[in-house]
This record gives sequence, structure tokens and C-alpha cells, in this order.
Amino acid sequence: NGIQLQDLVQLGKIGSGNSGTVIKALHVPDSRVIAKKTIPVENKTLVKSQLIRELSIMQNVKPHQNIVGFYGAFYTASTTNEIVILMEYMDCGSLDKILSTYKRYLSRGELEFRDPWFNELVLSKISFAVLNGLSYLYGHYKIIHRDIKPSNVLISSKGFVKICDFGVSKKLINSIADTFVGTSTYMSPERIQGSVYTTKGDVWSLGLMIIELVTGEFPLGGHKDTPEGILDLLQRIVNEPPPRLPYNPEFSKEMVDFVNRCCVKDERERSSLQELMCHGFIERYKSQGEREFRHWCKRIKRRIKEDKMLKREEKERAKLVSR
Ligand code: ATP
Ligand code: MG
Repeated sequence: NGIQLQDLVQLGKIGSGNSGTVIKALHVPDSRVIAKKTIPVENKTLVKSQLIRELSIMQNVKPHQNIVGFYGAFYTASTTNEIVILMEYMDCGSLDKILSTYKRYLSRGELEFRDPWFNELVLSKISFAVLNGLSYLYGHYKIIHRDIKPSNVLISSKGFVKICDFGVSKKLINSIADTFVGTSTYMSPERIQGSVYTTKGDVWSLGLMIIELVTGEFPLGGHKDTPEGILDLLQRIVNEPPPRLPYNPEFSKEMVDFVNRCCVKDERERSSLQELMCHGFIERYKSQGEREFRHWCKRIKRRIKEDKMLKREEKERAKLVSR
């Protein structure tokens, strides 16, 4: 039933993060397009045995509408010391990519796109999907995601929102410093301070993510590219007031309250997954807007294609100018 690596043909690179690289691949026997993530690992026995255990946990997770489909994991010890994770390909990509595509449209001055891409309907649907995926993972498998951020929330043009990249602990793959430098950190105050980590840590991350989608910027700012910058950021998460949505009379009371309940520094006072799933901001769009959201996803797919073309043209033009 599983997919064999030798049955895959590479189609092109999708992206890369701190831990690895993701490519698009064709599974020839059933002509299905999938995503293949490759993560280099240290060749240490302890690391390997733990990794294999964690991968088997992922293998056991049954399909769910808000979890990216898992098609198998491999550890290629004999050849290259990397793990390969095969998963469902999501054709609109991750929220960080959609956000940067939107920003490029704005900078090109496209009038048609004055309306925000991440309107409240879309944010409510995304929030519900993340909460629902998280509560499935925890409710059935006691898995805590620990890495909710825009690049780990994926969209498909069919209208699905799914979370990915849970289960394999970062510390096994990279040193702590490596994982911090160069990324925004969505970690909650209690996690930075080393307390017990619960699903409420993921709630904090969700709050930050919504603020980022609304404003276009990571809410805690700062220089994240140096070790000093990272320490400063972690310090601020712990010591300063929590981030908030900027004031805007057009925002609904429900959305503002939802974000405020996610971004509570004291974990004991922060809302739980269950509480947030029945929050007014979720309820308001729960039984409506399905069609509108599916259309939104289709439109995003077209915009991404268009953006790729525009980027290519811009590059060509720049080349001509420089000649
Ligand atoms: P980090 O390494 O900190 O998790 P990241 O999430 O950006 O950062 P990767 O998980 O390696 O890094 O993913 C790289 C990019 O590949 C993501 O930003 C996302 O846009 C894309 N991607 C990942 N998985 C899929 C998938 N299943 N379908 C489509 N695109 C994907
Ligand atoms: Mg990722």
C-alpha cells in the first residue's frame, strides 16, 4: 500500500525551511502528485532510534480533514543519512507563501486587490481548521503540535485547510540555536521559560499567526537573524505585554476577542482549544460561507500562478535593462 521512493519522479522544488527541503514529485504508478520532504540528520544511534519511533507515531495517525495526508517516511541510512517524509501535496501552498504573494500584488499596485485577502470569513475558517486539527491530534493521540506558524498551515484549491509538520521534534534534527536563528518565533511565554508544554502553547501561536495574516507582519518584530536578536525577542515575549491586533473600526468584536483570548501570556488564563472552537468568531461562520471559502481558495490558486508569471516577466525585464 505504501509508496516506494523509486516510483517517484521529481517535478520541482517547492521550498525549504530550517530543517529540510520540500519538493513536488510524481508518483508514477498512479500519476499522483505528492510532496516530498527531505531532512538531513546526524548519524547517531540515539537520534536515529528516537527518530524512527517518532516517525512511526506519524504513521499511526489516521486521515483527518485538517491534517495533511501522510504517505510514509523513510530513513536512508545506507546512502545519505536523511529522513524522507512523503505527504499530500497542497496546491495553494502555505499561508506564508499566500501572504507574500498578496504583498507582491499590493506592491505592484493592483487596484483589484485592495480588499484584504485574509478577510474575517477566511480567518475564521482557517482558525477553525487549525483548532480542529490540533484537537484531533491531541484527543486521539496525545500529540501536541508545537510548531503552529503560517508555513505549517496549508491550503488546497478544493477548499481544504490542513496542518503539517508535527511529531518530529526539532531538537533531534537541529541544535536549538539553528532552529531559532532566521525564523520568527511563535513560541509561547511558558515554553520559552521551560514550563510544561500543553496544547495552549499552540493556541498562543495561532493568535500570533492571525495577527500576522491581518497586518502582514510578524507581530513581535525585532531582528531575528542574529543570536542577540533572538535572545532579545524571547526576552520580550516573556516580559512585555502580549501582542494585539491594531485598532481598526472595521474589525468585528468577535475577531478581536478571539485573538485576545489566544494571546494571553499566563497559560492558565488563556482559552483552551475546546473553548475557542465554540467562540463567536468561529460560530459566526461555522454553518455558512463554505462555498465562498472554496471560491476564495480557487482564486488564490489563480493568483499564485499569475504571480509566478509576473515574477518571471519582471526578471526578464531586469535582465534586458542590465544589458
Ligand atoms: P521550518 O523548517 O521552520 O518548519 P518551513 O515550514 O518553512 O520552516 P518546510 O517545512 O521545510 O519549512 O517547508 C518548506 C515550504 O514548503 C513551506 O514553506 C511550504 O510553503 C511548502 N510545503 C511544505 N509542505 C508542503 C505540502 N505538503 N504541500 C505543498 N507545499 C508544502
Ligand atoms: Mg514546515
